[in-house]
Amino acid sequence: MKVAVVKENAPGERRVALVPETVPRLAKAGLEVLIAAGAGDGAWFPDSAYTAAGAAIASTDDLYATADVILTVTRPDEAAVQRLRAGQAVIGMLSPLTDPLLARDLAAAGVTAVSLDGLPRTLSRAQGMDALSSQANVAGYKAALVAADAYGRFFPLLITAAGTARPAKLLVLGTGVAGLQAIGTARRLGAQVSGYDVRPASKGEVESLGATFIELTSPVSAAGEGGYARELTAQERDAQQAELAGHIARQDVVITTAQVPGRRPPLLVTEDAVRAMSPGSVIVDMGSSPLGGNVAGSVPGETVVTRNGVTIIGAQHLAASVPAAASSAYSRNISALLLHMTGAGGQGGGLAVDTTDEIQAGVVVAHGGEVVHPAVAKLLAAETTANQGS
Ligand code: NAD
Repeated sequence: MKVAVVKENAPGERRVALVPETVPRLAKAGLEVLIAAGAGDGAWFPDSAYTAAGAAIASTDDLYATADVILTVTRPDEAAVQRLRAGQAVIGMLSPLTDPLLARDLAAAGVTAVSLDGLPRTLSRAQGMDALSSQANVAGYKAALVAADAYGRFFPLLITAAGTARPAKLLVLGTGVAGLQAIGTARRLGAQVSGYDVRPASKGEVESLGATFIELTSPVSAAGEGGYARELTAQERDAQQAELAGHIARQDVVITTAQVPGRRPPLLVTEDAVRAMSPGSVIVDMGSSPLGGNVAGSVPGETVVTRNGVTIIGAQHLAASVPAAASSAYSRNISALLLHMTGAGGQGGGLAVDTTDEIQAGVVVAHGGEVVHPAVAKLLAAETTANQGS
């Protein structure tokens, strides 16, 4: 079976789906690995390192013409979708819940689409495949560095002949994988760190990192399915925003990471809360997206300084900006899933798709000309109904 790695071309994307270190593992399982020329350049993996590891370098045309499986980091762009052909498979982070039309197009083209973001993350045998966690971990680390870089003072307590600098007060809102790594990194930089999440289970995790957990009187808990948070009601959201504002006003730095699967990110830092912060404060909004982020006034990919001197960073491409570490982790995740789906040998035809398997049921989005993932199919059906109604 031929497995090919494309050169990513989304703006700001420097990661690559496989790093040279993983190639021998795939070759040992009987897979032939093709790498698009220059695919690893952005992450400092030259073509020569791939050939030394046993892969072949190919042109993009050859790669699409001959590969059974295409490996990507992010979704293929329109040109790539046009190149994919029936019977071929594509594995990557395809975000089918926010982009169900891609799944529909791939299904219509007879392409098998496999998305790492659907992985059942609490299943212990799937943990080595958990790209959402590995990339969130890198992004959380970088968020703390970005915050430290934008902050005009020290993070640690410094006692020098020129005086004493007090440590920065830093609050992380949303303490999932990215938030916990941001806490750990900010603590290592010496900041005085606190964290908050709507899932009560995260209290122990925050405290185990030496940070303080902020408990609000409302909402007390919003734990949803599969370890994720549920969306708050309007009333809960208003109460949360009002109570958080008091805590935010006392911070020098705030990092927000809150997400609810399939929904727009919740607004945690309101305009009033930003206004109450001191000049020189910094907010890094990891939830920043074209739909809106966790912070009022954040613009994806941009740094905005408010009238009262608060720097709001609409963080984007954080994982991609630590490309070698992010690619190495992703490479292990995607190859573990690939090997899981090629069965024991991997020599025969394409992927051995079996949606009765719990892992595959989560990740296989399109197969045999159909959108087979129930949640994605439901979104597409709702869209069709809405279009017919309008
Ligand atoms: P995520 O990216 O979906 O969201 C980030 C955080 O935002 C979450 O902790 C969530 O609770 C929080 N959040 C959502 N709405 C909020 C609001 N209104 N106010 C404050 N916080 C809010 O989360 P994630 O990092 O992908 O992790 C989600 C869960 O999955 C966690 O429970 C994590 O421990 C779990 N997980 C488990 C495993 C495993 O068992 N192997 C692996 C990865 C993640």
